[in-house]
Amino acid sequence: MDGNTASPRNIDKQALLAKYRAERDKRLRADGNAQYLELKGSHLAHYLDDPYTPFVEREPKTDHVTFAFVGGGFAGLVTGARLTEVGVTDVRIVEKGGDFGGTWYWNRYPGAQCDTASMVYMPLLEETGHMPSEKYAHAPEILAQCQRIGRQFGLYDNALFHTEVTDLAWDDAARRWVISTNRGDRFTASFIGLGTGPLHVPKLPGIPGIEDFKGHSFHTSRWDYDYTGGDPLGAPMDRLADKRVAIIGTGATSVQAVPHLAKTAARLYVFQRTPSSIDVRANAPIDPQWFADIATPGWQQRWLENFTDNQAMGNATEDLVQDGWTDLSRRIRAKIAGLPADQRNPMGMLAAFEDSDFEKMEEIRARVDTVVEDRETGDRLKAWYRQLCKRPCFHDAYLQAFNNPNVTLVDTDGKGVERITEKGLVAGGVEYEVDCIIYASGFEVGTEYKRRAGFDVSGRDGLKLSEAWAEGLRTKHGIHVHGFPNLFFVQPTQGANLISNVPHNLTEGGRTIAAVVKHALDAGAREVEVTQEAQDAWVELLLQGPGRMMMGAADCTPGYYNNEGQDPGPAARLNVGYPAGPSAYFRYIDAWRNSGDFEGLEFR
Ligand code: NDP
Repeated sequence: MDGNTASPRNIDKQALLAKYRAERDKRLRADGNAQYLELKGSHLAHYLDDPYTPFVEREPKTDHVTFAFVGGGFAGLVTGARLTEVGVTDVRIVEKGGDFGGTWYWNRYPGAQCDTASMVYMPLLEETGHMPSEKYAHAPEILAQCQRIGRQFGLYDNALFHTEVTDLAWDDAARRWVISTNRGDRFTASFIGLGTGPLHVPKLPGIPGIEDFKGHSFHTSRWDYDYTGGDPLGAPMDRLADKRVAIIGTGATSVQAVPHLAKTAARLYVFQRTPSSIDVRANAPIDPQWFADIATPGWQQRWLENFTDNQAMGNATEDLVQDGWTDLSRRIRAKIAGLPADQRNPMGMLAAFEDSDFEKMEEIRARVDTVVEDRETGDRLKAWYRQLCKRPCFHDAYLQAFNNPNVTLVDTDGKGVERITEKGLVAGGVEYEVDCIIYASGFEVGTEYKRRAGFDVSGRDGLKLSEAWAEGLRTKHGIHVHGFPNLFFVQPTQGANLISNVPHNLTEGGRTIAAVVKHALDAGAREVEVTQEAQDAWVELLLQGPGRMMMGAADCTPGYYNNEGQDPGPAARLNVGYPAGPSAYFRYIDAWRNSGDFEGLEFR
C-alpha cells in the first residue's frame, strides 16, 4: 500500500464522524431515486439504442422449449451450461442485447475491467480451459469468455438476441410458461429462469435542460466509438483530439474511463458530485507457468471457496486471491481477532470494524496527496464516508489523470450539475462549453423489479409477482417463489448474498437449478414449486441473521447502496443473505442439492 498508514490512536474519530455527517447532509435530497430520468418509452429512449450489433429481422417463435431463460449475462450462461451438463439441451436464452455477455456486452467503455480478481470473477474458467491474461481482466476478454461459454455449451443455437420479454404467464391448464416478447414471439417453456441482473437499466440525471444540448452525448454503457474513435481493446480515441468532452459522474465506471479520455481529448471536464474512494489496483499479467502449476483439477472451485472464506465472516487460513476485497476483510478480521476477550461482543466488533474503516479511509485519502500535484484538486478528490457506503474503486491511473494539463475537475461540492444548455453544462454558476457529454450516471437500482425487468410475472391463478412481493422479496434460497411453479431466480439476495463476487452466487444458483430440473424430469414431474411453509421458514431464518451488514447506511452519503439516502421501507430488511454467511450458505446448498430430497420443494 502506498500512502501513510494511520492508527486509530492518531485519528480524531469525532471530528471525522462530524465531517462525514456534514458531507452526507450536503447531498441528501428529497427526490431520491426520482432525481433520475426513466429512458424507456420516453423521448430519451434513443440513449438505450445498441451501438454494437446490427438488428437482424427474424420470424417470431411459437414453439416449445424445455427451459427458457430471461437474460444472456453470466446468470443465463452458467445456468444454461449446468442444464446442458445434466442433459437439458433445448435451453433458449432471451436477451435484449445483440449477443451474450449482459453487463459485459453493454459496458465496452475504454478501460472497462473487472474489480474482483479474474481467477474467481470469470465464470467456468476451468470448464472452458481459459487462462485469464491479467489479475483483473479487461472487458473484451470477459465478453469473449461469455461467448466461449455460449459456444461450448451450444447456447447460441436457440438464443433470441435483441429480444425483450414483454409478458411471462403460467398456463395452469397446460402446466407451462407462455413467453411473449417485443419481436412478436409467443412460445412456451416447461421451466423458466430469470437472471436480469441488478444494474442493466441505464439512467440519466434529471438535470434541467438535458434535452437542449446541441452537441453529441451518450451513456457509458452505449459507448459511441464512431464518435470518439478507438475501440474497446484500447486503441486511442483519436477523434477526440480536437474535442472538448465532459463526463458526468465519478463512480466505478468513470474512474476506469477517465484515464483514457484524459489521454486523448483536447479538453476533459470531469463533473463530480461525490468523489469515489480510489485504492491501489496493482494489476499484473498472469504468468502461464504459474497458472499451469496451480490449475490442477478443481482449481477454480478451490479458489472460489477460498475467496469466500476470506470474506468477513469466513474462516480462511490462507488468501489465494489477494485482491482488494480480501484485503478489506483481512483487515477487519485482524482487528476483531486483536480485541480483548471481554470486547468480543457485537458492540466491540462493530467498533473494531469502524476503526479498521477509519484507518483504511485515512490511507486512501493520504494516497490522493501523494499522487495529485495540485493541492486543491487533491482535496476535492478525497472521499469523506465509510468505505462501503459507496462502491470502493481501485485504480492506478485515475487520480494521476488530474495531473494532465488538459483535465479539469469540476467539483460541484455535492450539488451536481445545475443545468445543461445548448452549448454545455453549468456548475457553480459557470458555463462550460463542450462538444460532447458522456453520462457516467449509472443504472437504476432502487426502482421496482417490474419496471427494471420490463414485465410482470403472472403465476398460478394469475398471481402477479409484483403482488407476491408487494411487501418485499419472499423466496426460498433466493431461487424459488411460492405460487410460481417451474420458475427460478438466479441472483444473490436471500441466498449467499456474496456481493464482492456476484458470479459465484450465480454459478451455484445454476447448479442448484440444474439439479432440481433434472430431478423433476427424471421423476416425470410436470411441476416443481416451493411450499408456502418452506418459503416462510426460510424467510424467518433470514430475519434471525445480523441483517444488512451495511450498518449505519442512514449515515452514509447518498447513492444506490442506501436508496439515495432515503428510508428504503420495511421491505429492505428482506434484502439479506444466509445468516451464517456466504461460505456456510454454499456448504448448506451443496448438501441440500446432493441429498436428493430437495427439502421444501413439491414435485407433482
Ligand atoms: P454510479 O451509480 O456508481 O455512479 C453514478 C455517478 O453519477 C455518481 O458519481 C453520481 O454522483 C453521479 N451523478 C449522478 N447525478 C449527477 C448529477 N446531477 N451531477 C453530477 N453527477 C451526478 O454508476 P457507475 O456506472 O459508475 O457504476 C455502477 C456500478 O456498476 C458500480 O457501483 C459497480 O457495482 C458496477 N461497476 C463495476 C465495475 C467493475 O467491476 N470493474 C466497473 C464499473 C461499474 P453521486 O455519487 O453523488 O450520486
